[in-house]
Amino acid sequence: MVTLNLNSLTYCFGCITSILDMDERLLDLLAEIEIIYCPPLLDFKEIPKSNIAIVDGCVRTKEDENRLKEIREKSDILIGIGSCAAFGGITGLGSLFSSTETLNEIFMSDTLLKKTIPNTGVPPLKERVYPLHEFVTVDYYITGCPPTSDLIFDAISALLKGDKPNRYEKPVCAECPRIVKEETLEHLLPFHEKIPDPEECLLSQGFLCRGSVTRGGCGAPCPSNGIPCLGCRGPSDKVLKRRDKDPLSTLIDRISRVTNLPEEKIMREIGRVASIPHTFYTYLISSPEMKLKPRSTISEYIYRFYETEKV
Ligand code: SF4
Ligand code: SF4
Ligand code: SF4
Repeated sequence: MVTLNLNSLTYCFGCITSILDMDERLLDLLAEIEIIYCPPLLDFKEIPKSNIAIVDGCVRTKEDENRLKEIREKSDILIGIGSCAAFGGITGLGSLFSSTETLNEIFMSDTLLKKTIPNTGVPPLKERVYPLHEFVTVDYYITGCPPTSDLIFDAISALLKGDKPNRYEKPVCAECPRIVKEETLEHLLPFHEKIPDPEECLLSQGFLCRGSVTRGGCGAPCPSNGIPCLGCRGPSDKVLKRRDKDPLSTLIDRISRVTNLPEEKIMREIGRVASIPHTFYTYLISSPEMKLKPRSTISEYIYRFYETEKV
């Protein structure tokens, strides 16, 4: 029997819900796997030794760091699930502010919280958000916010057969049924401004769909249902592996090709309809790999924290 440790750092419960969302397939896995640690299901205090540990969430506190290091020591295979684990994810947007600014905003600006920052029994925040591999070796990531239960099931099934989980190297566009057309547009569109054509590529219509720079594997549920891809699976291999590619500059090239808008106009339009850190680096702002790309603009937003030592 393969032993499984399901563990969480700073997270939102979305990834663990996606695991439980496997429904009956969990029963198939339980024929081969014994879950030996999972706080939402089992009340064990000590982190056990296991064959596989699945960790969701990011490192935001010293307690997260200690817990992650202990899990790594006690597991043969460590899998990070969710974009918080791999890149800092949505939680990583906290890196746009110092921990003091964050605590002041949450606890001092809201009268319901009695204007008191908790200082006992609560682990202090680190200065920024870290993905797991900044502290330990991670064997595999299953990205997404959250990753679909199909992705998680397929990855665990592959490991049980002795295979590696599928990387899904191609972008979301490869799974999207919409038809890409070259248009000549005057403007980009915020999503609320127009009902999109049901069949044409959203980017061709001027909506900021990030499917072309985002890793596939999710089955493109968002653009299939008329909603631009937000990039929750993180960068496609082309963007991740090539040093000259980053999500913002690569997407601008793509927008320019399908809309015939010049790059300078696109930058002005992006300033009008979107915020760069929240739109192009939504899940990636705390990713050291993205920050180090020569064309990345991440440093403009959180440079002050990258220059300091880990705390
Ligand atoms: S990746 Fe998304 S769903 Fe998973 S813990 Fe982070 S915010 Fe929640
Ligand atoms: S850019 Fe978006 S809408 Fe267009 S093909 Fe790619 S995923 Fe589909
Ligand atoms: S289409 Fe984009 S935002 Fe939607 S699940 Fe896939 S990667 Fe995430």
